[in-house]
Amino acid sequence: MAKKPLLEFTDRGIYCAQGKFYIDPWKPVDDAVITHAHADHAYVGHKHYLAHYLSKEVLLYRLGEIQLQTVAYGETVMKNGVAISLYPAGHVIGSAQIRVEYKGEVWVVSGDYKVEDDGISTPFEPVQCHHFISECTFGMPVYTWKPQVQIFEDINNWWRSNLHNGLATVLVGYSLGKAQRILQNLDLFNGKVYTHGVIENTNEALRRNGVILNPTERITQDSVKEEVRKGIIIAPPSSVGTPWMRKFGPYSFGYCSGWMAIRGAKRRRAADRGFILSDHADWDGLVSAIDATGCESVYLTHGYTATFARYLNGIGFDAHEVHTLYGGEEEAPSQPPPEGEELKETEEKIFEVSPTGGDLEGAGTTS
Ligand SMILES: [Zn+2]
Ligand SMILES: [Zn+2]
Repeated sequence: MAKKPLLEFTDRGIYCAQGKFYIDPWKPVDDAVITHAHADHAYVGHKHYLAHYLSKEVLLYRLGEIQLQTVAYGETVMKNGVAISLYPAGHVIGSAQIRVEYKGEVWVVSGDYKVEDDGISTPFEPVQCHHFISECTFGMPVYTWKPQVQIFEDINNWWRSNLHNGLATVLVGYSLGKAQRILQNLDLFNGKVYTHGVIENTNEALRRNGVILNPTERITQDSVKEEVRKGIIIAPPSSVGTPWMRKFGPYSFGYCSGWMAIRGAKRRRAADRGFILSDHADWDGLVSAIDATGCESVYLTHGYTATFARYLNGIGFDAHEVHTLYGGEEEAPSQPPPEGEELKETEEKIFEVSPTGGDLEGAGTTS
């Protein structure tokens, strides 16, 4: 009889029977190990949580009172003979890959990851393993990111030209990850940074956790419109097109997302500028990260799983698609087109190649 694998894919999440724990389960369980605090990985309702210590305050803010044990990267926790340790995933602050070892067999669960050092998350570290469970949100060759320094140069120039043209500047990005990455890379010589409450709540949680972020000012009822218009506003996707945003007009509105690499994505969000900036690995990043693990087999959890599995099998990996509920928390192309605007031909094509599960949770669940 074949040996039972150390990690299995169940309808509750990734399960380790030997250690009796789950990784990023989406249904309530007794013992959950959490890769990071995004909504599609950190669900409410588990009895016990284990996560990186930099995820602590954001998890408490998002999930309320939970029983949470935290560890540093590289620290080991034993559960029934199974060694669990966390390694940097480079995705957002506190994000971790989970390494699981039992009797010499090593599995690594990536959660979400990117390989570029964003200057704020602990940089991704490849971990040697036999079996690698990987995301592949952007697992198509068309997704190739430019270095972030170039993207932020574009963003800072756009902000300057808006000031010159008497426009306010609104930059949209997800509240955990993108917002802080933007904040730390803005040229504060241009002006002050104002934040939507949802983003400021996340910033405050991170600051409670000891993370040092650039100064921000929360937008409230008392904020003076003309002052705010001289700075830059960082806002979550859920605020797009709302009266809250409209009151700062006239403005130029930019959107930061990996999906901005596809035609029509900017127009679909009614954005003036699309900045291709993602907290997920691009095609080359995925391939190099998987290669660096030295693994025999790869399990693909979310994204372009079919295309990417075919490619990996073609270059000698033993790759499999698996069904999970991950994906869509931060970058899904799920924002519907504005009222009255039909999908253009190019956009229909985009939907055909949309990643599996990409629309599962909608764009707003972490906002
Ligand atoms: Zn994530
Ligand atoms: Zn995710």
